[in-house]
Amino acid sequence: MNVLFVGAHPDDIEAFAGGTAALYARDGHSVSFCIATNGNVGSRTVPPEEIAEIRRAEAGRAAAVIGARLIWLGFDDEFLFDTRETRLAFIEAFRQADPDVVFCHWRQDYNPDHSISGQIVDECVHMAGIPNIATATPAIQTGRIPHVYFMDTPAGVGFEPEIYVDITETFATKVRMVAAHKSQDGWMKEMFGYELEAFLEIPARFRGLQAGCSLAEAFRPSYRWGRTFTHHPLPNGCREAAVRRV
Ligand SMILES: [Zn+2]
Repeated sequence: MNVLFVGAHPDDIEAFAGGTAALYARDGHSVSFCIATNGNVGSRTVPPEEIAEIRRAEAGRAAAVIGARLIWLGFDDEFLFDTRETRLAFIEAFRQADPDVVFCHWRQDYNPDHSISGQIVDECVHMAGIPNIATATPAIQTGRIPHVYFMDTPAGVGFEPEIYVDITETFATKVRMVAAHKSQDGWMKEMFGYELEAFLEIPARFRGLQAGCSLAEAFRPSYRWGRTFTHHPLPNGCREAAVRRV
């Protein structure tokens, strides 16, 4: 399968779905990371253009840990809007990745780049197959509509999972991928008052407790017309929550 992860910022995919991405890669699937913004406000000391370049290089190294392909959209950090330009850029990314499965941010996530990128993915992913919407890459011919999953939020705030992936085997890989974003060392502590390791491990243990395994990542499927699938193409024997959330 082709599996596409869409993150708002250069380290989001790794933080919220890195263990799952590593499992797909381990199982031989083709994994792409699409990053919507360039992270150009992600430093107190380095100017925007310079930190954006640093973060693009870091994103490449993080993706390389599992052999994922990087698709870099380069919009300004914290100023992603749902416009014609952004939609066309996302549609072009969908065409490049030609995904069977897409992961994106939860539409009510805390940060506007997160919620808006999640919204664009959820609402526009099918447009990759419409030939009269022109981008650099021709429309996808297969006519299939990919599965779409929303990723967990930071610390799980406001997110009721419906499905879990056991990432016990790939948690260390996830940490290595996040650690590739060296320019962000200390940023979590400075911004939010806690260490990065706790930021990754506590939610993984909490979701693991919910799912009945050691460490887990949590997701919700997007249910839209054409996407009411009866199976989940998730790795590692995914577990569904006992109660479907509404
Ligand atoms: Zn983010």
